[in-house]
Amino acid sequence: MKKQVIKPLLFIVLLLLLLSLTSTIVSAAYNTQSTGKLSEYLTNQSQQSQKHPLQGKVIVVDPGHGGSDAGAIGPNHVAEKNVTLAIGNDLQKLLSDGGATVIMTRTSDQDVATEAVSDIEELQARVDIANQGNADLFISIHTDAFAEHGTGTTTYFYPGSNDDLARVVQDSMVSQLNLYDRGSQPSDYYVLKHTNMPAILTEAAFISNPNEERLLISRDFNKKVAFGIYNGIKNYFLLQ
Ligand SMILES: [Zn+2]
Repeated sequence: MKKQVIKPLLFIVLLLLLLSLTSTIVSAAYNTQSTGKLSEYLTNQSQQSQKHPLQGKVIVVDPGHGGSDAGAIGPNHVAEKNVTLAIGNDLQKLLSDGGATVIMTRTSDQDVATEAVSDIEELQARVDIANQGNADLFISIHTDAFAEHGTGTTTYFYPGSNDDLARVVQDSMVSQLNLYDRGSQPSDYYVLKHTNMPAILTEAAFISNPNEERLLISRDFNKKVAFGIYNGIKNYFLLQ
């Protein structure tokens, strides 16, 4: 008789244990789900703030040369000043659309100071625009020139200054353009030396190299250069 009573009791105890276990599992699952939702939400929030890293930033875009100064001339007579302006205007649009306030040193084929002034005074006029505008960044756009066989992409920063901006913009341009990576390099260019904010000078390709000169007059290529610089600037602010 006793055994017959114990068996159903054991069954009930086991059933209760099973129910309690099930409820624990369900509750744990629910908790996991809500934690998952929260972390998802937090991730979304941080992604939302990451979508506008340029908001409130003042960025000076400086298309190199212009007006009386053609810059370097390629073997097929492409003038650097026209290429830098095309890239600069593309970059201006991307940065503005991204929420930045963009100050252009020039938006057409013109000297920034006047034709009459010295080269240094012309460069100082560009520096003044950045320093007086309290810009967060100064981005000077150039194309390289050396010998016909010169090739690749370079970004310059002032020696001894933080090279974060140059490094991320260089990496971003190289991944867009797939040209030889000459790296980010220190150089005491006047506009890098005299601007008060993080400043870089980009050389997307060699206008003195006929193959790269051909690329530099392609609007697709100009847009890729601008996008590379833009994306690098965005990455730079995300790093801060
Ligand atoms: Zn130049």
